[in-house]
Amino acid sequence: MFDERLLAPGPVPIPRQVREVLARPALHHRSPAFRASFARARSRLAEVMLVPGDDVLLLGGAGTTAFEAAFLACVPVGATVVAAHAGKFGARWAGLARRYGHPVVEVEAPWGAALAPEAVAAALRAHPHAAALTVVHSETSTGVLHDLRAIAAAARAAAPDALVLVDAVTSLAATELRPHAWGLDAVIAGSQKGLLLPPGLAFAWLSERAWQRAPDPAARHPSVTLDLHAERPRQQGASTGVTPPVPLVLALEVASELLLDHGLEPYWALKQRLNAAVLAGLEALGCAPFAARPSPAVAAVWTPEGLEAGALTAALRERGVRVGGGQDAFAARMLRPSVLGHVDAYDALAIVAAFEAALSDLGAPFEAGAGVQAFQRRWLG
Ligand SMILES: *Cc1c(COP(=O)(O)O)cnc(C)c1O
Repeated sequence: MFDERLLAPGPVPIPRQVREVLARPALHHRSPAFRASFARARSRLAEVMLVPGDDVLLLGGAGTTAFEAAFLACVPVGATVVAAHAGKFGARWAGLARRYGHPVVEVEAPWGAALAPEAVAAALRAHPHAAALTVVHSETSTGVLHDLRAIAAAARAAAPDALVLVDAVTSLAATELRPHAWGLDAVIAGSQKGLLLPPGLAFAWLSERAWQRAPDPAARHPSVTLDLHAERPRQQGASTGVTPPVPLVLALEVASELLLDHGLEPYWALKQRLNAAVLAGLEALGCAPFAARPSPAVAAVWTPEGLEAGALTAALRERGVRVGGGQDAFAARMLRPSVLGHVDAYDALAIVAAFEAALSDLGAPFEAGAGVQAFQRRWLG
C-alpha cells in the first residue's frame, strides 16, 4: 500500500513539481515550446554547475554515458591516461580507458580512504605526457568525498597539459563543486542522483581549454551518438542530433529552478547536516562510519560485527526502506543509505528509525531510541 522509500544513492525521491511535469502531454522535440525549454534547462543547469555561459551538453543515457562521451572528446587515440581511484566508480574509468586501448597509470588508495593529491601529482610528474587524469569527486561506493580542489590544483602544477576529467555524479547539487574556479576540464553527472530527477539524462561540461585543445578528428575515437564536438553546435542552437528524452528535459528545467530558488550553498549545507545526523544516528546503533572523509551524498557505514549486510538490507526492505548495499569486496559488511534527492530531516530520520527496528529484530544490542536520539542531537544541536 505504501511506496518503498528510496534512501539510496540513486535513483532518488522526486519532488511533486517535477513529477507533475513528467505527467504532462507529450511535446515534439522540434517544437518551439520544447526548444525553448531545452535552452532554459541548459542554462539553468549551467547555473547549478557553476560554469560560465550555458554550455552544458545534455545526452540521453546514464552518468557513464556522459563520462564516455567526455573521455572521447578529450583524449586522443592511444594517449596515456592517469586514473586515480579508491573505489568502484574510479576504477570504472580506468577500465573504460583500457577498453579503448589506452595505457593506464593507476593511482590507488584503499576503499574508505581519500586520495592523496601528492600521489596523483607524483604519477603525473612521472608521466608528463599523459593526456588526462580521471578522478571521482564523491566516490559513491565508499562514501568518500575526495578533495577534488586540491587534487586538481596538484595535477595542474604537475602536468599542465593533462586535462582533468571529473565524475561528479553524486557531488553535483550535493556538495560544493566549482568546475570553473577549480580548473577542471570535463565534469559529468547523471540525472538520478543529486538532481531531483529520474534516471535517463546525462550531463557533460567541458572547459574552454578542453574544447580548444581537443584532438583533431583523425586522432579521436569515432562515435556517432557520443560525439560532443558534433553535438555542441547543435545544442547551442537548441537542437540535438538524436531524439532527446523530452520529459526529462522539461523536468530538468523545473528541478534546476527548484535548486536555484533554494540556493545552492544552503542546499549543500542542508545535505551535509542531514548526512552528518544520519551518520551520528547509525554510529549510536553500532554502525561505524566507513569513509575517512564523508561525502554528504552517502552515509556509508559498517554493519555491526558479525552481522551480514544482506540480512540488514532485507530487514530494512520489509520496513519499506531501500538503501544502497555494500559493493564488491565490502558487499557483506557495509551499507550505503543516502539523503540524496528530495529528502528532508524526517525522511533522513526514517533511515535511522528503520535501522533501529531492523537491527533490534536481528538481535543487535543497543538502548531503544539510541539512534533516533543521536540523530536528533546532531540535527537540532
Ligand atoms: C551512480 C554513479 C555512477 C554511474 O552512474 P550511471 O548513471 O549508473 O552510469 C558513476 N559514478 C558515480 C560516482 C556514481 O555514483
